[in-house]
Amino acid sequence: MSARNEPSFRESVDLMFNRAVALMDLPPGLEEKIRVCNATYTVRFGVRLRGQIQTFTGYRSVHSEHMEPVKGGIRFAPTVNQDEVEALAALMTYKCALVEAPFGGSKGGLCIDPREYDEHELERITRRFAYELAKRDLIHPSQNVPAPDMGTGEREMAWIADQYARMNTTDINAKACVTGKPLNAGGISGRVEATGRGVQYALREFFRDVRDVEKAGLSGSLDGKRIIVQGLGNVGYHAAKFLSDEDGARVIGIIERDGALFNPSGLDVDGVHQWLTKHGGVSGYPDATHHAEGEAVMEEECDILIPAALEGVINLANAARIKAPLIIEAANGPVTAGADEILREKGTVIIPDMYANAGGVTVSYFEWVKNLSHIRFGRMQRRQEEARHQLVIDELERLDRYLGDAWSMTPEFKNKYLRGADELELVRSGLDDTMRIAYQSMRDVWHSRADVQDLRTAAYLVSIDKVASSYRAKGL
Ligand code: GLU
Repeated sequence: MSARNEPSFRESVDLMFNRAVALMDLPPGLEEKIRVCNATYTVRFGVRLRGQIQTFTGYRSVHSEHMEPVKGGIRFAPTVNQDEVEALAALMTYKCALVEAPFGGSKGGLCIDPREYDEHELERITRRFAYELAKRDLIHPSQNVPAPDMGTGEREMAWIADQYARMNTTDINAKACVTGKPLNAGGISGRVEATGRGVQYALREFFRDVRDVEKAGLSGSLDGKRIIVQGLGNVGYHAAKFLSDEDGARVIGIIERDGALFNPSGLDVDGVHQWLTKHGGVSGYPDATHHAEGEAVMEEECDILIPAALEGVINLANAARIKAPLIIEAANGPVTAGADEILREKGTVIIPDMYANAGGVTVSYFEWVKNLSHIRFGRMQRRQEEARHQLVIDELERLDRYLGDAWSMTPEFKNKYLRGADELELVRSGLDDTMRIAYQSMRDVWHSRADVQDLRTAAYLVSIDKVASSYRAKGL
């Protein structure tokens, strides 16, 4: 896929880190301390399946423990390797710092193609992997808290949480050992949609400042913008759905494993998603042209390109042909360091992964807090809030009667105003606030420093500065 002199994923992350850190004034040696991955644990374990023992290889990498627990997903994919897990763990460190989730960075992976196993087999494999990690405190509410990533979801997180609870029967905080659990197993409303929702909030904030929009050579709002999404998994699907349903954007291209769909007048995201779930691919979907060479559709003309699946999909081999003026990295590491340079020279604006996809870990943070506090968000305040709003409504109704035909309260206002926020609304509000504040911190650096030309460098500067302050506070 990529050119021969493309660095590895981890080298790519390091190169981008180095570019940013060169603009900082860190104490000698601290830069190296922050960059390196603290530890990677490799485990090989056997599970008896279909009459024979199968050996699996898994990793849990801890990049930085400047804050604990460390946090990051567990990926199930046949391509998982140490280099990848370490790159992803490093990104978790910077991501958590940028959005002020009080965690260090970690990541895990298991070399497996989950589609080759049935549910029962996957449960046994996941539980065994969880056992191996938990017995070394690599799953632990105060040490290391995994979450979903590619190839894993609520189901796997529920198995992991249960496995940990079986091994730690008296730990009252056992549920906080992993996030991304189903609601009935200690999860939080809005975690599944969180990363895609975060992408939407990130774009909304981008479009709030006309200077940023102009830097990308665009104008106006999200309304009517043409979007191409690479990968219609959990993240790509939710981002595409929210942007088209709620912001008026037009999803003209969707790239999947078996090719791409293209329709300049817009695709029905839910329709494509249902087709994909039913048929395992996008081929045969009726209301679009199908391109067998899916990746080439990333090079089509559009306003916003959203790579939402694998790392390295925009690389030395195709970067020069990418026409989108704005790329938002919903995936981790979709643009290699070499491609980043080519795109920067072209003036393409890239909203970087460590910010763009931080919605997932942000809501994971809320879930972890919920688990530790043992109470659902809003449970204490909701009805009290409604009662106070009722007082205002009563007064307004009195005024309404007094003013007669001159003024009247609309029923929509009354209904909306009366309803206290439930957990989902609170989660979305917390996520929106987080995405706005983190973007503003990058924007300030981007606009105020002449030596910072891109948002990725700005993101690194903000997050490395936060990690460095934690180290300084520890006396290092
Ligand atoms: N796997 C997700 C990520 O890459 C979520 C991590 C988490 O929630 O801890 O950010």
